[in-house]
Amino acid sequence: MPIDATSPYDDQNIFAKILRGEIPCRRVYEDDFALAFHDINPQAPHHLLVIPKGAYVSWDDFSAKASDAEIAGFVRAVGIVARDAGFVAPGYRLLANTGLDAHQEVPHLHVHVFAGRPLGPMLA
Ligand code: 5GP
Repeated sequence: MPIDATSPYDDQNIFAKILRGEIPCRRVYEDDFALAFHDINPQAPHHLLVIPKGAYVSWDDFSAKASDAEIAGFVRAVGIVARDAGFVAPGYRLLANTGLDAHQEVPHLHVHVFAGRPLGPMLA
């Protein structure tokens, strides 16, 4: 079910549990600011998720509350993940669903990284 991204952060969400090591993930990258792992239900030949280590629901929440170091570290991690995975050529897509209309299901900020096939024109 999509979530209301204006809700307070719920530390029982699935990505919070992954961050705490309570449930497993197929990790591809980790540093002080971010964790990246394979999506459990891939929508492309390569489908990764990159999440910040802090407790943020969405980009707007993150940009309002996170330190400059967290923001820089997370954004840098997204680029590192794409580069290390070899997605730069022929290309990849980043996506961040937020709230009900965008059908965000997990209430912890995440960036989807899709690659491995022509992804077509962007859908609004
Ligand atoms: P959203 O709709 O919130 O943007 O996307 C959430 C994503 O999290 C979905 O693509 C879904 O497949 C993925 N997901 C949900 N539960 C798990 C899980 O337990 N492990 C992993 N690796 N991915 C998950």
